[in-house]
Amino acid sequence: MKRREIIRNIGLLPLGGTLLGSVFPGKWIQASPSDQKAGRNLLKELGVRTFINAAGTYTSMTASLMHDEVVAAISQSAKEFCMLNEVQDRVGERIAQMVHSEGAMVTAGAFSALTLGMAGILTGTDRKKIKQLPHDLEQSGIKSEVLIQKGHFIGYEQALHNTGIKLIPVETPGDVDRAVNEKTAAMFFLNCNTPDGQIKHEEWLELAKKHSLPTFIDIAADVPPVSNLWRFNDMGFSLVAISGGKALRGPQSTGILMGKKDLIEAAKLNNSPYGTTIGRGMKVNKEEMLGMYAALEKYINQDHDKEWKIWEDRVAVINNAIKNIEGITTSVVVPPIANHTPTLHVKWDKDKVKISQKDFLQRLRDGSPSIEVMGNKEDGFNATVFMLNPGQEKVVAKRLREEFLNAAK
Ligand SMILES: *Cc1c(COP(=O)(O)O)cnc(C)c1O
Repeated sequence: MKRREIIRNIGLLPLGGTLLGSVFPGKWIQASPSDQKAGRNLLKELGVRTFINAAGTYTSMTASLMHDEVVAAISQSAKEFCMLNEVQDRVGERIAQMVHSEGAMVTAGAFSALTLGMAGILTGTDRKKIKQLPHDLEQSGIKSEVLIQKGHFIGYEQALHNTGIKLIPVETPGDVDRAVNEKTAAMFFLNCNTPDGQIKHEEWLELAKKHSLPTFIDIAADVPPVSNLWRFNDMGFSLVAISGGKALRGPQSTGILMGKKDLIEAAKLNNSPYGTTIGRGMKVNKEEMLGMYAALEKYINQDHDKEWKIWEDRVAVINNAIKNIEGITTSVVVPPIANHTPTLHVKWDKDKVKISQKDFLQRLRDGSPSIEVMGNKEDGFNATVFMLNPGQEKVVAKRLREEFLNAAK
């Protein structure tokens, strides 16, 4: 399933938490003193539905769970004061070493990294220009146009728009040559839609070099493979934006902006803690910065081959439980870019297995434990396993089988 289709299917998402909350109002409101000692479970107290995430790293589903090392970095640093910029600078230096870039900073998600990076390109360290965004760029002597391939529009380019720039769609190298003028600020590339653009990375970089323009690439959901963390810095992109809370499993409200040192420093000036900047509302505190750093370190150092094998085994457990049911068709695919993990595609003959996609997803959601998978365009669903806790694949397998056999009766 392509990125666009995933986004289209977001419409199928549940209104999280409303169901349990309305069925059991107030059930958990009174926490006893002993509960409090053991640690309150606020999700339970508030009646918020929790579920097994066999869908993937979707922001609306809280995307990913942090490893203990990350939670430890957060809770430990929560007990001390320090200067925010000092944390950002120290963490940024270490992250930059890990990803082969000159500089790096922790942002409030990849979306924020895109806005701040774009702002940095536009303003440099000029405080007057920083204050000006997102209004009247041209009148203020700020470059105002960004080139993007037609196939690279998926919605997230809004993050660039937020700085006040205009996106100029191009298709061919000739289009690029004709579009570049004195207002052109940068050339943007969306990695996950590489196949949808005529111009690939290297040629995009060549064109930018020819016109002396900075380049910016969005790789938000594009690890694994781990090598993508440095691949685009090595290739020569000026700035790279990635999500911290997807497969990296950092705090969900983080991302990383990495790239040329001068641009990173300019991006920082457009961010919190500085007032009158476009990024003041994209605040990231020390806990998230350190949590992101701990998550990145853990991610880079883990055994990726072993993890891949675990994912394949989990997918097989789920697939084996349902693939022989009459009317069911399954296949295991690995999306080439973005969410590059073994994914199970499931569809069924609605004459043999008499349940609609919508009702099937609802039954999984309403079951115990509640399970989320992602509805797809083929009127079936996709299940991923990289956000499962060990053993949950067995629960997912059992529940899918139960519901399918029930509907096949
Ligand atoms: C998820 C995503 C984003 C936004 O990332 P956040 O970390 O949620 O801000 C941007 N671009 C693409 C391609 C994405 O997949």
